[in-house]
Amino acid sequence: MGRMEYKDYNSLVMDRSGSIGYICDMETYEILYLSRACMEICGLSSPEEYRSQKCHKVLYGLDEPCPFCTNARLSSEEDYNWEHYNEKLGRWFDITDSLVLLEGSLCRLEIARDITTRKAEMSILAAQLSLEDMLFRCLNTLTRERDVAAAFHQFLQLVGSYYQANRAYIIEFRLKDQVADNTFEWCAPGVSAEIDNLQGVPLSVMDDWVEKFETVGEFSINSIREDLAPDAEDRRILEAQGIQSLLAAPLRRDGQIVGFVGVDDPTLHIDDLTLLRAVSGFVLEELEKRRLLAELEEMSYIDVLTGLKNRNRYTRVLQEYESAPPLTLGVIVLDINGLREINDTHGFAYGDRVLKQAAGILSEHFSGSVYRIGGDEFTVLCENISREAFQFKVVELRAAFEADPLCDVSIGFAWNLDADSVDVNALRHQAHEMRRAEKQAYYHSVLNEGRMVSRSGIAGEVVQEIADGRFVVYYQPQVDLKSGAVVGAEALVRKIADDGSIIPPGKFISFYEVGGVISYIDRYVLRTACQALRQWMDQGYQLHISVNFSRVTLLERSIVEEVSAICEEERVPTSCITIEVTESIGKMDGEYLKQLIDRLRAAGFSISLDDFGSQYSNLAILAELDFDEVKFDRSLINSLEQNKKSRLVIESGLGLCRAMEGTTSLAEGIETQGQLDLLASFRCDYGQGYYFSRPVPLGQFEEYLQGHNPKDV
Ligand code: C2E
Ligand code: MG
Ligand code: MG
Repeated sequence: MGRMEYKDYNSLVMDRSGSIGYICDMETYEILYLSRACMEICGLSSPEEYRSQKCHKVLYGLDEPCPFCTNARLSSEEDYNWEHYNEKLGRWFDITDSLVLLEGSLCRLEIARDITTRKAEMSILAAQLSLEDMLFRCLNTLTRERDVAAAFHQFLQLVGSYYQANRAYIIEFRLKDQVADNTFEWCAPGVSAEIDNLQGVPLSVMDDWVEKFETVGEFSINSIREDLAPDAEDRRILEAQGIQSLLAAPLRRDGQIVGFVGVDDPTLHIDDLTLLRAVSGFVLEELEKRRLLAELEEMSYIDVLTGLKNRNRYTRVLQEYESAPPLTLGVIVLDINGLREINDTHGFAYGDRVLKQAAGILSEHFSGSVYRIGGDEFTVLCENISREAFQFKVVELRAAFEADPLCDVSIGFAWNLDADSVDVNALRHQAHEMRRAEKQAYYHSVLNEGRMVSRSGIAGEVVQEIADGRFVVYYQPQVDLKSGAVVGAEALVRKIADDGSIIPPGKFISFYEVGGVISYIDRYVLRTACQALRQWMDQGYQLHISVNFSRVTLLERSIVEEVSAICEEERVPTSCITIEVTESIGKMDGEYLKQLIDRLRAAGFSISLDDFGSQYSNLAILAELDFDEVKFDRSLINSLEQNKKSRLVIESGLGLCRAMEGTTSLAEGIETQGQLDLLASFRCDYGQGYYFSRPVPLGQFEEYLQGHNPKDV
């Protein structure tokens, strides 16, 4: 299609009507064409005067797009028809808008008819109508018009015209909050709208009014100045709006006043409140009906089992995003592992319980933004949240599910991939990918299907963070309880926040676990620890280092080769490295785990069972797998002095270790001399805790070492 000429535009408009019309670009609001009649009423004489000008400026004298702009309502299927009073021109128009595609841009074609004269005739006519006629028309308007806002607007226009008033409006009380809102308003041409100024007005301001409504019903105030006390709050509010007189009729539900219909500055039928009284009943009925409909609509968006929002609602939100996307978005997708098996083995009632439980945990963390999309599938849409806040919430959510014995879930998440814009589909896709990867990890299909799918986004990020030095390694000494010598250290990772503060691993580890990229961190910590160890060896110390490996890292197929390679590259014998695994590895496939531990030990590494006794301890794990060390959890040590049972558990646990050849014992979290003495008396081999030293940076650890250990030269 060639460039549109003036005559082409003209014929386009002329085809439609032959009167006032214009075309503008819907995206830029730039005027492409004004019909001759339109130019005339805007006081322009040639097209040059409106070229590259905005429609809101030329037609309405506004610097910003008009608050009543109809762009969002236009569709290619149907024209949009409306009436509007143009304040700049001081005239009423009957307007038809249509959507047209011109040279690939969506444009708005607006044709208007000047109906100012007709409008004036109509309102005189309305004022002259008999009360019965008027009532009939009010009723008809309220019930016939489907769009609520339009219905009430037309209705108020009739009422306003009948009284030849400046304004007609409805005020509704929110009794629960003890405030009143102006919910609908009609204004005569040239009269300012007040609806925005009358939201959440305290009901206390209207005490006198409510009393009057209760005792006499509808009433009039003929002169605000004379009838209201000079310092009264209601008088101040009314005067601020320039109101001199008014009529009001209460809306009464079950005898209680719940709002009113009002008319400002009436000039006709002033003494006749009959119309106002008569319509108030219908208004209330209509309002109730509207509320009911809204509730019904709301209900169609709720999932019955969980009370969460359902897929319908989710679809609607995604549609809304198309025209008004949030600034930032975090998406979480989550499903329940093995729900079908749960249903098969335990029955549907149990399956429902699991679903409800998951829904409960999700709502606790993300109230209002959780959707149940399908059988066992949930989605969270977190609007306008910072990346850090979102990551933190994911970590918390993760922890809540980890702690829950009922629900085993797979989680995927994503936050604004593209810094400038929110691409909901891309985010959902990434979140789904990640969840799928996690699911694979759960089922160890990894073993048969080769390497895990790469998680490009977050993996790239963590690699960058490592390169930027955002992770640092702290060392906490491990001490031989018999000799008091430092035998080694546990390497514990920390993250450096943007403001330089130190973030403990509890706050971020699970975030990277969920993302499936924790192995990058674990390997980085191992390499850093190896470098430290090499240095100590060169200085003549004979020590070992313990590193923590997440179970996600342990699932990596070539993990044994990779960690062996790191030790080799850093010239550290694997026998100096202990790999700590936590009890939660119990969730892994037993056979796979056994093979893995055998392979690691064959490569020379020692394996330590971390956090033993922390949660649901599984003694079987000690029977099935060979550990070089068992680390007794801090929680047991903590209660050692006060709690006799803890003492018993530790004592027999230590006995168990001694009985298993090749397994040493280490107590974590020793903070007091008392704890130390007890552990020594139970013949615990090694200890670690604040009593000796907190985890500290490399330099500090080396100072500690110098103060405590003679060099093995
Ligand atoms: P963990 O392996 O059980 O590490 C011991 C935790 O106990 C450390 O917390 C340490 O600071 C703390 N702790 C040591 N002695 C005391 C004490 O006397 N009193 C108290 N109240 N606490 C003590 P941290 O450094 O915050 O690490 C928390 C957990 O994060 C670790 O628990 C470990 O599971 C994990 N983690 C740390 N570094 C890494 C890593 O490089 N990779 C992986 N996957 N996980 C890591
Ligand atoms: Mg540990
Ligand atoms: Mg531990």
